Amino acid sequence: MDSWVLITDGKISAVGSGQWPELVIQHSDSINIQDMEGSYALPGLIDTHAHVTLGPVAWKKTRGRLGVGVEYDPEITRQNSETLLRYGVTTIRNPGGDTGRNVAYRKRAENGLPNTLNTLTAGLVIENTEFAGLTESPTPERSIESVVEDQFNAGVDYVKFYHSLSADQLSRGIAKAQDLGIRSIVHTGHLSWTEAAELGVDSIVHMMPISPELLTKEARIQYLQQARPGPYGFFEWFEHVDLNSNEIREMIAAMVRHQVHLDATLVAFEAAFWGDHEHITENPALSEVHPAMVDSWRSAFRFDIGWKEDDYKRARAVWPKVLELTRQMHESGVPMSLGTDLGNPWVVPGRSLHREMRLHADAGISNWAVLRMATSGAAKILGLDHQAGRIVPGLQADILFLNSNPLDDIRNTLDIAGVVHNGQPLAATGKF
Ligand SMILES: [Zn+2]
Repeated sequence: MDSWVLITDGKISAVGSGQWPELVIQHSDSINIQDMEGSYALPGLIDTHAHVTLGPVAWKKTRGRLGVGVEYDPEITRQNSETLLRYGVTTIRNPGGDTGRNVAYRKRAENGLPNTLNTLTAGLVIENTEFAGLTESPTPERSIESVVEDQFNAGVDYVKFYHSLSADQLSRGIAKAQDLGIRSIVHTGHLSWTEAAELGVDSIVHMMPISPELLTKEARIQYLQQARPGPYGFFEWFEHVDLNSNEIREMIAAMVRHQVHLDATLVAFEAAFWGDHEHITENPALSEVHPAMVDSWRSAFRFDIGWKEDDYKRARAVWPKVLELTRQMHESGVPMSLGTDLGNPWVVPGRSLHREMRLHADAGISNWAVLRMATSGAAKILGLDHQAGRIVPGLQADILFLNSNPLDDIRNTLDIAGVVHNGQPLAATGKF
């Protein structure tokens, strides 16, 4: 069908099919017409888990002590943004990083500066364990409420609470965020997602609900006897969980009841579970990642650090369960969007979001539902549906054109014909 989209001042002003509107016929000499015949138009994609400003993890000296920390380099942010856009990602939620840098990035995007994506952002991750450049911790002198309030005053849209916070800290932090009218994200393993949902959190990240409390009593005893600390839990917990147990059903029901949003970031866990494979560590697409990031993944910063052959084998054996839980959550009505955890090992800006779509399709979710998760569904969840996520008049002109139909095969989202961002065709892509 002959369809057209009219773009004025960076926004979609009309959409239709058949005859061009009279306005276009009359002013055809002053209108820039792009013929995209034979292509498919999708709204610009949304990555709801993209640490766009984050640099490599490195040894750092803070307050005289040497520890691991995150570095920042505007050049990495620039490369991330450029690559995201090239792959049709035009909106992101940045779930953590230096507060000042993250808010400044969002402001640059609001001012329409080129090479910046429409953004919602969190600041430093709120966590008891110190990780220089990435976290800040509540102290006896500075309550969790004050930390939340300071980030609110700095201009964040979200606050992110991390792993080691107690239920009491989390509940006070979430209540403070609600008072201030900003949203909360939780990354938690020891606290069950059922409890996090009851506390009123808005978003949970990563398909790793690895709390022992979510295992049946017998499995819990076994798990706790054998569990090793750290990322081994990513697969050890899945070895013990019964996805049809009351504990898991109640967790999903609580998330549906409270409409807790989830992004699974499967691509980040695939990279760990297959971390001994060349298709992850020697992926040609890594040439699109800033070399300082790839260097840090090759040398020190990995989720699968210390894993032996047997660990990879066990991890890959539970991967179908990870996908099954993803499907169950979607089918039960948990609001889900797609995130990549950009900034973390082996994640390629933009390209990994296409992989995330593929992994959700592998989980048994229909291509149509996956495309919604990456566009209109995510926009609605983020509260950005008045700006992004659909090709309708009044919204930002962010459009991804494909040469082949993604409903036939979700891998076709990588068959990119062109990208339009804020009404501007990006010269580096496809047909433009
Ligand atoms: Zn993350």
